[in-house]
Amino acid sequence: MPWQSGALTVSAGSLSCSCAGRSGWEQTFSNPSKLAAGSAGARCRNVGHSVESQSLFAYNDTMMILGIESSCDETSAGVVRDGAVLSNVISSQLVHTPFGGVVPELASRAHQRLILEVVGEALARAGTKKEGLHGIAATHGPGLVGALLVGLNFGKAMAYGLGIPFIGVNHMEGHLYSNLMAPSGHAFPFLALIVSGGHTMLVQVTGPFEHAVLGQTRDDAAGEAFDKVAKMLGLGYPGGPRIDAMAKRGNPQAVRFPRSYLNSDTYDFSFSGVKTAVLYHLRDNGLPATEQGIADLCASFQDAVVDVLVEKTVRAARSTGIRDITIAGGVSANSRLRSRLGDACRQHGFRLSYPSLEYCMDNGAMIAYVGWMKLTRGIRSPLSLPAVAALDLV
Ligand code: ADP
Ligand code: MG
Repeated sequence: MPWQSGALTVSAGSLSCSCAGRSGWEQTFSNPSKLAAGSAGARCRNVGHSVESQSLFAYNDTMMILGIESSCDETSAGVVRDGAVLSNVISSQLVHTPFGGVVPELASRAHQRLILEVVGEALARAGTKKEGLHGIAATHGPGLVGALLVGLNFGKAMAYGLGIPFIGVNHMEGHLYSNLMAPSGHAFPFLALIVSGGHTMLVQVTGPFEHAVLGQTRDDAAGEAFDKVAKMLGLGYPGGPRIDAMAKRGNPQAVRFPRSYLNSDTYDFSFSGVKTAVLYHLRDNGLPATEQGIADLCASFQDAVVDVLVEKTVRAARSTGIRDITIAGGVSANSRLRSRLGDACRQHGFRLSYPSLEYCMDNGAMIAYVGWMKLTRGIRSPLSLPAVAALDLV
């Protein structure tokens, strides 16, 4: 969704950031409808932190939530009411393109430039004013701290000013539950493959906020490998979509790059080996002189990554007995991954669903959706909630 803001032209794009860590800053109310003005002494789970500002608030399903996402290079905001997406505005930053990767300081500055307009546009497209909101959710990790702080502080300030609850959301929970936003999405339980610039993760989801990470990358994320290999091949940034496009014209059997399945009893991934194998291939053979040669390398590299993703996902589904599979994250846009996983699911009798492309990439609607899931369960966050670069999915 291309979008123009001031001097900065923005369009759908991508990013890279690596994270892992620990959370624990949520506050739950067992009987939220009893929450009344002046209950400022409510304690937060794990950290015993006091909430400073709360207004009279009754929780119900029809709440309208604004979600803000700024964990890396997408400035995005969306509005969800009663679990339905009313708007989703995504502004991807092109300022990073000449650098072949996300420059953290530039990302923070671009978020600051864009956030007011993006949030305003999200509210306008949802047909509401800020006074119509019942809560504001914002990503508080994982991601680039400077980038996170922009959306997080904007969301907190807005919630404080309006006297409505603020809800901190783990970015990975956003991807995980984005499957539920589509009418065709799976009910619980389902298996989620999250593949993005910063993450590669297989997660078993048995209910709302009942999830277990089965495996994740031990080094490079799948998207990161795509971006780095694209840079080596001189294809520019973001690399994933460019390799995907080139690979359509290439022979996936031209070069046999290694598949790191690791051993059979782990669902963890490793993609640094295949990236290094491409590097060594280029060192020994040079950059192909023809476009066909580049396309062959793209197709061969892409198949090495896709083989591992498909094999591990199918293996996890078979061993858990879960028949519904969903994929999310920027790499889930990859056409080869979609067709190969689709074939494998048909062969094994699994049902496969994808959120639509705008909900696969980083987006504010998925943050609003998780915010809505939390607030309807009486979960909100203190205004002291920090931005956490390495935030675990727990
Ligand atoms: P993150 O969660 O790290 O911010 P995103 O979900 O925004 O990541 O996805 C961005 C990543 O997705 C980038 O690494 C980009 O190269 C990759 N990507 C986007 N489209 C494709 C595609 N068609 N094929 C492979 N990778 C893709
Ligand atoms: Mg992104």
